[in-house]
Amino acid sequence: MRLVPFLVATLVAFIVAPPVATLFALLVALLVALLVALVGKRVYPNAMYSIEKTIADLARDLVMMDSRSALSNIPNADRIEPELLGFDVERVDYNDAAGVQKRVLIANRGGAGGIAFSGHMDTVPETGWQEDPWSGRIDKHGVLHGLGSTDMKGPVAAAIVAARALPASVPVTLLITTDEETTKLGARAIAERSDLVRRVQPKAILVVEPTIMRPVRGHRSHIQFTCVAEGVQAHSSTGKGRNANWTMVPFLADLKAIYDRLLSDPALQDQAYDPPFSDFNVIIDNHGTAVNVTVPLATVTIKYRYSAGVDPSFVRNAVRQAGERHGVAVRENEEGSPPELPAEHPFVRQCADLSGKPTITAPFGTDASILQAIAPCVIMGPGDIGIAHKPNEAVSIPELAAAVPVFQALAQRFA
Ligand SMILES: [Zn+2]
Repeated sequence: MRLVPFLVATLVAFIVAPPVATLFALLVALLVALLVALVGKRVYPNAMYSIEKTIADLARDLVMMDSRSALSNIPNADRIEPELLGFDVERVDYNDAAGVQKRVLIANRGGAGGIAFSGHMDTVPETGWQEDPWSGRIDKHGVLHGLGSTDMKGPVAAAIVAARALPASVPVTLLITTDEETTKLGARAIAERSDLVRRVQPKAILVVEPTIMRPVRGHRSHIQFTCVAEGVQAHSSTGKGRNANWTMVPFLADLKAIYDRLLSDPALQDQAYDPPFSDFNVIIDNHGTAVNVTVPLATVTIKYRYSAGVDPSFVRNAVRQAGERHGVAVRENEEGSPPELPAEHPFVRQCADLSGKPTITAPFGTDASILQAIAPCVIMGPGDIGIAHKPNEAVSIPELAAAVPVFQALAQRFA
């Protein structure tokens, strides 16, 4: 209750009025104070208020814990685990390539089948941020600010709250991963090593990445090529060195031809995606060599994205052959294959029906590339991917809360 108006009114009454009037004024002031307190609190109906508050508390705590992919996500996992009271919880631990400890969580309530909600705990680096990326600041409009707020600690919090608030008899599973932004090792750990998933066999997986609740029925996956040419380091004036870039130049010309082909050949494109042509992004790195030194190591990295309707072997073979022709060593890293369900798939239709938004395809990748090995995947969640991966990332708490009944209705339909 707000005491200030009550006390002020009491004081005024005592000064200006006789005792009976004072008693009356006291009663009126009490009523006014009660009213002010109630109006101040009841912005939302009770249930909605508590859902928003629970999501805000969890999402803010998760944002305040730095979980960039290079770091251990165990503090995030430790914050989430006590939220899963009444769930059967499995931890799968692993060390990433740099030896950093990672943990994924699998949780189930209500038994086998049903739907699974999936999201990741890691974030991209804090490139370009001016304000504190881990502030977890919630402004007066109910918007949570911070790295990973929309991608995707906010949606993860919404999914956990939705699952927890379901009747205990409705089967529901949570697949909470990490390393989504880099290697997808978290999702791989679940697909390959989770006993709980093997037991539960969820019928469908909703990856709750921020899509403004538009159901994404398919997305591209990528192959990353790392291409290395070696030279001999020397002072460039001596004539004793060999610059690795002279090996790389004709290789790069061949890459340009592949790129042009991707832009012009409809057989390598997919009209169901925007843009229809594939991403083939080339990064050139001389590792900081000074201009008076012959380059000992030139590295070209390429990210090639393709959808389920495109055969990646043309690009794969063309890059390999260009490497062989010019003496460039080529290494490949595959993300997993691109997931895609037909627009008329029952899961896709349920999602579109419940969210009221049109079904789309997306050019970016998610854990669905890996999780599709467990069950059919649709990607749909609150928040906007368009403001992720850059400074001032933020997500609206009321928007997160609005996703809860949609997630729950989906869970009920798959029960
Ligand atoms: Zn994400």
